[in-house]
Formats: sequence, structure tokens, C-alpha cells
Amino acid sequence: MSEQFEQLERPVVKELDDILGKPFHVLNDGFIRVIDYMGNDSSIVQAARVSYGRGTKKRHQDRGLIRYLMRHDHTTPFEMCEIKLHVRVPMDAWRQWIRHRTANVNEYSTRYSVAIDATQTTEPQAWRLQGTINVQGSEGVLDKEKGKELTRKERELHDLSRRIYNERIELGVAREQARKDLPLCTYTEAYWKIDLHNLLRFLRLRMDEHAQYEIRSYAKIIGEEIVSRWVPLTWEAFTDYRLKGQYLSFHDKEIIKALIAGDKEKAVQLAEQFGFIKYKEGKLTMNIERLELEDKLKELGLNAPWHE
Ligand SMILES: Cc1cc2nc3c(=O)[nH]c(=O)nc-3n(C[C@H](O)[C@H](O)[C@H](O)COP(=O)(O)OP(=O)(O)OC[C@H]3O[C@@H](n4cnc5c(N)ncnc54)[C@H](O)[C@@H]3O)c2cc1C
Repeated sequence: MSEQFEQLERPVVKELDDILGKPFHVLNDGFIRVIDYMGNDSSIVQAARVSYGRGTKKRHQDRGLIRYLMRHDHTTPFEMCEIKLHVRVPMDAWRQWIRHRTANVNEYSTRYSVAIDATQTTEPQAWRLQGTINVQGSEGVLDKEKGKELTRKERELHDLSRRIYNERIELGVAREQARKDLPLCTYTEAYWKIDLHNLLRFLRLRMDEHAQYEIRSYAKIIGEEIVSRWVPLTWEAFTDYRLKGQYLSFHDKEIIKALIAGDKEKAVQLAEQFGFIKYKEGKLTMNIERLELEDKLKELGLNAPWHE
């Protein structure tokens, strides 16, 4: 071969090496630990600059390139980084987690081994009430006195299902069948390996306030404690453009333009024209797009003129 190739060094991230294997505690008995990783911010930059054939440039140029890649959805360089986590999660949250198909997973088997003897428990003040606007979600919490009773019954239920499970095991019932009445709050464990691009997709969906509290608690730790240490430039860009940025549709933009020009009447007319505003018996009807626009306006310090 005529060309000389430089000797490479494995990309390492001291901040992540320092926490390898250390559990971050989540909920009452869950955790997340980093087992291994491949790549760092420089690996992303290097992949994007592959056409130059040489290593990275200055840090501020790396930051600019990573921000450019994030802004323009140039996603494949982020797939050059991978991370492997060991997680302990209640089964109902795991059921949402496992929908992210682009990860590699190996889960604790309750056919081979006795089910983990731990359940997610709920404090008396933490029983969430059914949401009315976001009908998939929750709003506010139940009165603490009523919550105490629910927490007591929760403990009874967990104890009973575990006792019956243990009884079946002691009688020699197969573990694959004995487990069938264990509650969904029983913890499971898994090794979960995913590339950074798909991990960021997971975080964007699961760190969002619309995600269920339990899985959001895990996602927050993965983002704020792990990804922020591992790839700080990517984390900064992701936070800026995806987590804290705002997406505006054409309709949103037209209404906001009218508001900024001080023309509230036009803003209301446009909202009617776009179908955001409809009245029934003199009252505004529910419209999810309008409610989302109202949240965006609030973030921008603007009032929704149809409420004035
Ligand atoms: C708030 C919230 C509410 C939800 N509610 C429900 C619900 O009520 N019911 C329900 O069933 N699910 C629900 N989900 C799950 C959701 O629909 C997705 O399945 C989940 O978020 C995984 O997202 P994903 O497919 O983008 O991730 P991944 O599976 O990791 O995929 C990442 C991306 O890879 C690509 N990809 C992966 N696999 C394929 C494939 N086979 N073919 C083509 N492209 C592929 C797609 O571009 C995909 O977006 C909800 C999710 C959230 C965040």
C-alpha cells in the first residue's frame, strides 16, 4: 500500500469512564448503569468529515459542525457512537421503553430465573389523577389522606401476589407459568445498547412532559447524567434545538406574525381560518392544535388573543 495510515487511539471520555458501572438510582428500586460505550463527540465530527480523510479540527469548529448536523437532521454521523446500559425498570415502563425498536436488548428471563423480588411502590402523595385535556396523561394528584389508603392496599396486593408466586415455585410449578399473576410494577432488568442518533430520538420523546412520569424519570437521568458527560457538544446542540427549541408550523408562524405586528384581530381571523377556533353554543370548542399553539405563545411571552 502506498499510503501511510496514522496509528489511532481509541476515543475515551474520562467523565464517562469515571461513572462506568455506577448506578444512578431511579424510582424506589430502579437504576441505570453505563456498562460500555464507543465513540465521543470527535467520532461524530470525524465521520462527518470523512471526505477530508484526517482527524478533527479545533474544538470550536467541532461544536459548529455538530450544531450544523443537528440543525439539519444530518443524522448518520451520530450513529457512529454507541452506548450500553444496564437498567432496572418496572415492567409497565419497560413495555413503553421496548417500543424503541432500534436498540439491542437482552432482558432478564423469568423463565430461567425467579422473578426479581421488587415492585415499584407509590407514596401516598403520588397518586396522579386522570388527565382531562391530555387524555393519555395525568393532571394533579389525589388527596394525600385518600392516597394513604391506596398505598396501603398497594402493599397488600404486592405482598399477596408475591406470596402466591413463591407458593407456586415451592410446589414446583414452572417459573414460566408461576409468574403470570405478578403485577406489572415488578422490576425487570436488561442490557440495552443503542446508537446515539436513536438514543436522542428516545430522549426527545421520553424526556418530554407528555411522556409518563416513570419512563421520563429514566430518560432524564440518561440525558442529564450520562449523555451530557459522554458527548457534551452533542448534548448542548440537542438541548438547544430539540429539547428547548420550538417547532412552528406555517399556520403557527402566520398567527405569530400577526400578533407581533400588533394585529390581534387578524390573528384571531387566521386562527378561525386554519380551524383552530370553533364555537359551540358560544363557547370555544376543544382543539388540540390550538392548545399546543397557546403553549408555544406562552413560551414566547405572547397572549392568545382569542382569550382576551
Ligand atoms: C407520549 C407517547 C405516547 C405513545 N402512545 C402510544 C400508544 O397509545 N400506543 C402505541 O402503540 N404506541 C404509543 N407510543 C409509542 C410510539 O408510537 C413509538 O412506537 C415509540 O415512541 C417508539 O418510537 P420510534 O418508532 O420512533 O422508535 P424506534 O423503534 O427506535 O425507531 C426509530 C426510527 O427508526 C425507524 N424505524 C424503526 N423500525 C422501523 C421499521 N420497522 N420500519 C421503518 N422504519 C423503522 C423509524 O424512522 C423510527 O421512527 C407512544 C409514544 C409516546 C412518546
